[in-house]
Amino acid sequence: MNTSYWERETFLESYDIIVVGGGIAGLSTALELKKNRPDFRVVVLERSWLSDGASSKNAGFACFGSISEFVDDIKDMSFDDVVSLATRRFRGIEKLVKEYSEEVLKLEWNGGHEVFFQEDESSFKECCAFVDRFNDAFERTLNIRPYTVLTVQEFQGITNLVGVISNKYEGGLNTGAMLNAMRNSALSLGVHIFNGVEVKGYASSENEVKVETTNGIWKAKRIAFCTSSFHSELFEDLQMSSKRNQVVVTKPIADLKLNGTFHHHKGFNYFRNIDGRILIGGMRHQFPNTESTSAQGNTDEVVSALTNFLQHKIHTTSEIEIDIAWSGILGVGKDERSVVTQVEENVFVGARLGGIGVAIGSLVGQELAGLIDSSFPK
Ligand SMILES: Cc1cc2nc3c(=O)[nH]c(=O)nc-3n(C[C@H](O)[C@H](O)[C@H](O)COP(=O)(O)OP(=O)(O)OC[C@H]3O[C@@H](n4cnc5c(N)ncnc54)[C@H](O)[C@@H]3O)c2cc1C
Repeated sequence: MNTSYWERETFLESYDIIVVGGGIAGLSTALELKKNRPDFRVVVLERSWLSDGASSKNAGFACFGSISEFVDDIKDMSFDDVVSLATRRFRGIEKLVKEYSEEVLKLEWNGGHEVFFQEDESSFKECCAFVDRFNDAFERTLNIRPYTVLTVQEFQGITNLVGVISNKYEGGLNTGAMLNAMRNSALSLGVHIFNGVEVKGYASSENEVKVETTNGIWKAKRIAFCTSSFHSELFEDLQMSSKRNQVVVTKPIADLKLNGTFHHHKGFNYFRNIDGRILIGGMRHQFPNTESTSAQGNTDEVVSALTNFLQHKIHTTSEIEIDIAWSGILGVGKDERSVVTQVEENVFVGARLGGIGVAIGSLVGQELAGLIDSSFPK
């Protein structure tokens, strides 16, 4: 490393907190810390030019859960815990909107719809039986009754249905606009953000953490890992693993009827309209061997499965052509609950946001910032 005195003194040392990871969790943590402690020196170190996990690669659903997802979650969590997690997602979206505004996030409240095809009839019946129970629960926690059952065969150009369960309190936002707003907000509060700096390891002593990076040694009083599942080997007790999600966006479709965010099969398949196109992603459950990975990339099998779904399930008179395909990596755990914790005296982790980080990311940042803050003298 060819580091100057000025670089070392000004940029590499004397931080109060180094946040590793420039996704939703890292940026939210950094900006909440700065709000609590304006005099603190806070830096975010991100290995990629922007963010290389999920935060700039996700589908932008501002959603708090589909009924088949809840029914599936009840296998690992109590009913009350499932409701409490969904309520947290709702509150997280509320915080996100309050922080940045619908306009900045390009958020449209055009509804969330879980679709059930003819082959999903038994799941539809099972989910319909839960609708009142979940509406009653959300009436208690949020004062809303979100879910409405529609027994229809066609909905917004989607054909061969047995029904739809709609939630009018959900919508879609623009992921790029969201991350841009978070970065700008953090920078405007005085957070330093460095991209292209990969953290290789750390050594924590009583008063200091030395952080080894591709750009030399950085020093701070505390370090927070907001690296999703990318540092799972450092924190084995947190039981994090990586799942890849592939996404495609079509070219513009002239007679597109879709207007909203759509879920299918426990949230494993999802699609929405965006700028006159369809974005579709997921299906990782069909490819557990290849998609249990932290490596970015697309495979012919998953892209074909996503394209087939579009061609066979969504009716358009124009041909559906793919414009762009990409992937993102989810950090998941034994259930959908994220981790906000202190793992050593000066070391903190905010991770495992799974497939719901757009919704809960701001809350995770707030909670992690609170935990770090409380480790400093008042
Ligand atoms: C395809 C897809 C669709 C999704 N759709 C939705 C949705 O519609 N709604 C929703 O609520 N959620 C959705 N999610 C989930 C959501 O995007 C994630 O939960 C959220 O982005 C996680 O944020 P994070 O900051 O924890 O992790 P990340 O965004 O993964 O950020 C972690 C960062 O750490 C960096 N990093 C890793 N290792 C190092 C290192 N050694 N040094 C420095 N930096 C490092 C990575 O480059 C990365 O930028 C989706 C996810 C995917 C993949």
